[in-house]
Amino acid sequence: MGRAGTFVELVNGTFQTIGIALFGRRFALPDALVARYPELAAVRWRAGGLPLRIGGWCLGRRTVAGITLGRTVFLANADALAPALLLHELAHVEQFARDRAFPLRYAWESLRRGYPRNRYELEADAFAARVLAERPPTRVGPPAGPSRPTRVVDVPRAASERPI
Ligand SMILES: [Zn+2]
Repeated sequence: MGRAGTFVELVNGTFQTIGIALFGRRFALPDALVARYPELAAVRWRAGGLPLRIGGWCLGRRTVAGITLGRTVFLANADALAPALLLHELAHVEQFARDRAFPLRYAWESLRRGYPRNRYELEADAFAARVLAERPPTRVGPPAGPSRPTRVVDVPRAASERPI
């Protein structure tokens, strides 16, 4: 293609780099995670992107772990997918869907009460905790075989807390 092809490639590459910096890159959750939490499939997941930086600036940090815009969730680290964080962000997706004024209300709550006491944050944490109580995360890794060394014995709390 010669020089023109190289130039087009350079321009394309540059736009791609700028695109990733702005909007992150799209990625899919591992199958095991979606099998455990099918509700997470309703979200468009992206890694990186400017919204994380903007969220960080608002909180006086370099970045935030996750930020939700409509049905899209931007995560700072797509290599460490904690179900608690994913479910928390899913709750924000639902808050967006429920109320078009959500971004404004969220900002107002944060200004008035501070980020940790923002009622949308508390609601998202409560949602994640509820789902995790019903369906605790399973260890993602090789299937358990006969060579598995030990098994954790779960003593029922009622029994262990009973006075002797
Ligand atoms: Zn949140």
